[in-house]
Amino acid sequence: MDPEEFRRAGYAVVDWIADYWSTLGKRPVVSSDPPGAVAAALPDGPTAQGEPVEAVLADLDALVAPRLTHWQHPGFFGYFPANTSGPSVLGDLVSAGLGVQGMLWATSPACTELETAMMDWLAGLLDLPEKFRSHTRGGGVIQDSASSATLVATLAALHRAGGGRWRDAGVDRRYRVYTSTHGHSSIEKAARIAGLGADGVRVVAVDPRTQAMRPDALRAAIEADRAAGDVPAIVVATIGTTSTTAVDPVPEIGAICAEFGVWLHVDAAYAGSAAVCPELRWSHAGLEYADSYCFDPHKWLLTGFDCDAFWVADRGELVEALTVMPEYLRNAATESDAVIDYRDWQVPLGRRFRALKLWFVLRWYGVEGLRAHIRRGVALAARFADRVAADERFEVTAPHPFSLVCFRLRADDETNSALLARVNATGRVHLTHTRVDGRYTLRLAVGSPYTTEAHVDEAWDLLRAAADELGAG
Ligand code: PLP
Repeated sequence: MDPEEFRRAGYAVVDWIADYWSTLGKRPVVSSDPPGAVAAALPDGPTAQGEPVEAVLADLDALVAPRLTHWQHPGFFGYFPANTSGPSVLGDLVSAGLGVQGMLWATSPACTELETAMMDWLAGLLDLPEKFRSHTRGGGVIQDSASSATLVATLAALHRAGGGRWRDAGVDRRYRVYTSTHGHSSIEKAARIAGLGADGVRVVAVDPRTQAMRPDALRAAIEADRAAGDVPAIVVATIGTTSTTAVDPVPEIGAICAEFGVWLHVDAAYAGSAAVCPELRWSHAGLEYADSYCFDPHKWLLTGFDCDAFWVADRGELVEALTVMPEYLRNAATESDAVIDYRDWQVPLGRRFRALKLWFVLRWYGVEGLRAHIRRGVALAARFADRVAADERFEVTAPHPFSLVCFRLRADDETNSALLARVNATGRVHLTHTRVDGRYTLRLAVGSPYTTEAHVDEAWDLLRAAADELGAG
């Protein structure tokens, strides 16, 4: 494909995406086809001669699009949002077109320097502590996901807890990781990858009213482990847990970490975006204690997957834990110590130019545009929660400080599960579930930038109708 052919085909692809976005609301949110439908519709292999892009676009329409879960659909209320946006897609397109590798500063200086600048912009946007900015000992990097952020934080914490021996000696003692019962599954996965085994994770009890970690239970767990000769290495506190968006009490947790010399990682994968709004920054209290912090612009900040923003207070510790320098990567810039080589801040060597999509997003929306997006999500969730609370057949089961509402019928788990199945079967909306205090709970997470009051009201109408059909109340 030469540049002129690319130009023509590229316009057709952009048209296809624009048409997809403008027809989203008319599609069923999820596919009802059985497993294997896509594979069965595809030929066994590629054609002998190449095909025009139009042929691929036709098959996208016929085979792929009908069998997607449409995460940008205005009726998509499942899991957490995975926003994308026009500027994000365009930034990603430029990144793909440039095709540069940003593993070292020397392999593409602008790739590294724009990323450092974007991480400083984001730190300013969220009003994060100064220690995370690049002019200090700390700094930020884009990881592919919050799971990777938790993994590298865990590795750096082990290196510190082992007195700097971990990179050579590995896991030489019984190191321990602490998180609440609602900590994300990636914490256990990180502990396993790090060689601690699943039992390296201590699950700390939550306050049943808030679902947030209990500091007294954390202290007791750390003290018991120390008494048994184990080494507390890292606490992962969550701002906005996956189940209910509970906010762990980071100021109290941080004070305990400081007292015992334990690394504090704060996982704000979903709710971090809320801190662009000054009125929601209460949720980030205590971050001055954190050794590392991350959030996912790819969840709620209009930036397409993958983009996790991860900061450390001391980049030297992270780099020391992870760096390996083979001969073929040696270069004068690295040896001058005047540059950042992001390969030392992550698991893979190679890295895409992900800062471009952030740059496009931040410049297109501006601070006020991003705040308006967050505020709209919070207001829509509050509108939905008001309706739930006003219907005595239902209950709101957890606080809803952000854009997720947890709720259920005042009925048994089977009825609630049937309620979820019924509304999802309409194809108009898609909600998911969790358990709160062991009880089946529905979750409505406002996510798509296309969602309006009418869509939230429609979700509520469908829920009420399904409750009527089930004879609830
Ligand atoms: N942490 C929390 C609190 C989450 O809610 C999630 C995903 O929902 C993750 C981590 C994992 O995010 P990622 O897919 O970026 O690894």
